[in-house]
Amino acid sequence: MSCLFCSIANGEIPSATIYEDEYLRVIFDINPASYGHALIIPKTHSASLLEADDETLEHVFKTARKLGNKMISELGAEGVNVIANCKEAAGQTIDHFHVHVIPRYTGQPEKDVLHISQDELEKPDFEALAVKLALN
Ligand code: AMP
Ligand code: ZN
Repeated sequence: MSCLFCSIANGEIPSATIYEDEYLRVIFDINPASYGHALIIPKTHSASLLEADDETLEHVFKTARKLGNKMISELGAEGVNVIANCKEAAGQTIDHFHVHVIPRYTGQPEKDVLHISQDELEKPDFEALAVKLALN
C-alpha cells in the first residue's frame, strides 16, 4: 500500500528537508500555519502516535525539542506548538505518524490552533473519569 509520508520520509518523493537521519526526516509543511511550520516524519510507518513504538517516539520528540528551541533562538519565535493529530476525528489527514512543530510569534491573531472550545462542557465527575483513564 502506498503512503505519501513513507515516500517523503524515505526520500522517494522530494521535499523541502530541514534535517534527516536514519530514523526520521523533518520537512516544511506545504501549507504552513506560521513562518517555519515543520513536520517530523518517522521513516518507519505507523498510522499515528497511538500505534508508534517507543524508540520512534523517543527520536521524534527529542527532535521536536531540539527544533522548537532552534525556532525560538533562530527564528525569533516566542513559543512553539508541538502537535500530533491522531485519527480523522482529531483532524488527522495523513495516516502516517507525524508531529507538527509550529513556531508562534507575538501578534499572531489566532492563539488556539486546536480550535476546540473549552467553554461549553459541564464539569465532569473527575473521579469516575480518572478510573476510566487509569494508566496502570
Ligand atoms: P495532519 O492534519 O496532522 O494529518 O497534517 C498533515 C499535514 O501535512 C498538513 O498540515 C498538510 O499541509 C501537510 N502536507 C500534506 N502533504 C504535504 C507534502 N507533500 N509536503 C509537505 N506537507 C504536506
Ligand atoms: Zn507511511
